[in-house]
Amino acid sequence: MQSGATDALAVVHEHILVCTDCPLHLKRIQAVPGTGPAGARIMAVGEGPGETEDRLGRPFVGAAGNVLTKLLESIGLRRDDIYITNVVKCRPPGNRDPEPAEMEACSHFLDAQIEIIRPDVILILGRHALARLLPGAGGISGLHGRRVVRGDRLYVPLYHPAAALYQGSLMRTLEDDMRKVRGYLDEADARRRQPAPAAAPGGQAAASEPALRLVSPDPIEPVPPSAPPGRDQLSLF
Ligand code: SF4
Repeated sequence: MQSGATDALAVVHEHILVCTDCPLHLKRIQAVPGTGPAGARIMAVGEGPGETEDRLGRPFVGAAGNVLTKLLESIGLRRDDIYITNVVKCRPPGNRDPEPAEMEACSHFLDAQIEIIRPDVILILGRHALARLLPGAGGISGLHGRRVVRGDRLYVPLYHPAAALYQGSLMRTLEDDMRKVRGYLDEADARRRQPAPAAAPGGQAAASEPALRLVSPDPIEPVPPSAPPGRDQLSLF
């Protein structure tokens, strides 16, 4: 199973590396598919590669990457255990914001990565990733640090680590939000340790399911930004 996911992820990476589906391929040095194990419990999704990432072919390796690494380590996580990627896999020239058409063209790669990895939690880094993954859910200022469930997936929006480089007060907010992420993971671990329900007399035990790892193969139903999701589509904790 694990090697199947690893192989499937490698195939997605190969397609990304040769992709020419949007104009961002014209000025890239190389595409940046993502790094981390296919069995990662946590996935972090940023907006797009920057200059250093474009040069090295790895996401979050510049100054913002150092912030992300320290934040992960502050709650006892190793960066190598996290799968890290971006909404668009090629650097927008001059580090401009990715355009909607570019995010749309690239979206099937991110969908495939999420579907293969099936992480317990997806950390959404910044407003562009938030708009792509939770359209219509609200802004980053209201959602950061909160658990958001849509469909069969659990998300925690966070300010982009680069924002803390330019606005020092956001570092404390990021640190506080990461402590909440630690709490969410601890809750998931506690639920994993709970014994499976006993078998009913003459019947079969209910199938146990990893906490927060739901099994519906259906992709997230996108909600148009102009149409806020109904209560059954979006839950906040
Ligand atoms: S950003 Fe995505 S869609 Fe555009 S060229 Fe790169 S991999 Fe392809």
